[in-house]
Amino acid sequence: MKTGKLLTGKDLAVKMQVPLGQEVCRLTRRFGRRPTLAVIRIGGRNHAQAAYLRSQERLASLLNIGYRLITLPARTNEARLLRVIQRLNRDAAVSAILVLMPVPRHIDVKHIMHHILPAKDAEGLHSENLGRLVMERDHVVPPTPGAIMTLLKSSRVNLAGREAVVVGHSQVVGRPLALMLLRELATTTVCHIATSRRGHLKKHVEKAEVLIVAVGKAGLIPGRWIRRGAIVVDVGLNRKGGRLAGDVDFEGARRRASLITPVPGGVGPLTVTILMKNVVECFKWQHGVGRHRI
Ligand code: NAP
Repeated sequence: MKTGKLLTGKDLAVKMQVPLGQEVCRLTRRFGRRPTLAVIRIGGRNHAQAAYLRSQERLASLLNIGYRLITLPARTNEARLLRVIQRLNRDAAVSAILVLMPVPRHIDVKHIMHHILPAKDAEGLHSENLGRLVMERDHVVPPTPGAIMTLLKSSRVNLAGREAVVVGHSQVVGRPLALMLLRELATTTVCHIATSRRGHLKKHVEKAEVLIVAVGKAGLIPGRWIRRGAIVVDVGLNRKGGRLAGDVDFEGARRRASLITPVPGGVGPLTVTILMKNVVECFKWQHGVGRHRI
């Protein structure tokens, strides 16, 4: 039986890392300091966070990007966290700041994000950077949607006029991704919990020529819903029977899709590379290099 080809992020990530590493070298030589990422982790020791941190540290070291991990106790209050952020904002040796998600419940993430300087916002989540995305004047983009768009572009499909359906409307994935798809002139539909509650999810998924699912519920999308020839990007990461699984029934979907991302190995490997690209973009923004204007 014919099955969809795999759309994997690993080779693409390596391809992007070569010129990125060279750019880091050039910038370090020119400015006498290297791009550096500071990561703030508040409490928590979950596996997903630990894996994300390990891959950040490994890639930063490979690219010669400086990396600082600041670990704060889970009970850290907002005032203390803001003081740490303000110190990093002032520190000329720090190019980009990332607050590791999820943070403990007593911390208001939106409030915190607003206090990171836009030019040091490693994940492009500050309202100025999201506004820049709307205006198509962005310097940094949220890494996961950035990774998804890189994957889609690598497939060489012309997105203009295509039916693109995004399932999930989170601040970090679904919403910025919808803006990026619109920029490519895809006809973009965003589905969320209310779409499912009204029983409309299947109807939207069935029309998708490009389907991106970022929910975090294993098996949410059965294979039989996939339109024949569709491109399927599964962002979901779920633990199922001791293994990682996406939100889409992979085997069923693969029989109908033309291209499909595996989980793991699809979007994930590219996400950290886009994050490191953001660190370099932040550095350039702060130094007024190229198209970057503050
Ligand atoms: P999130 O903040 O929890 O958002 C999930 C979204 O799914 C919400 O918009 C939610 O809508 C929606 N949703 C929940 N149940 C739904 C349903 N039955 N039907 C339709 N929509 C539904 O999660 P996230 O941070 O965006 O992450 C989503 C998944 O991607 C997770 O599994 C995460 O681990 C994974 N992820 C992977 C990467 C990677 O690099 N591979 C990066 C980031 C995230 P409401 O808010 O309206 O409830």
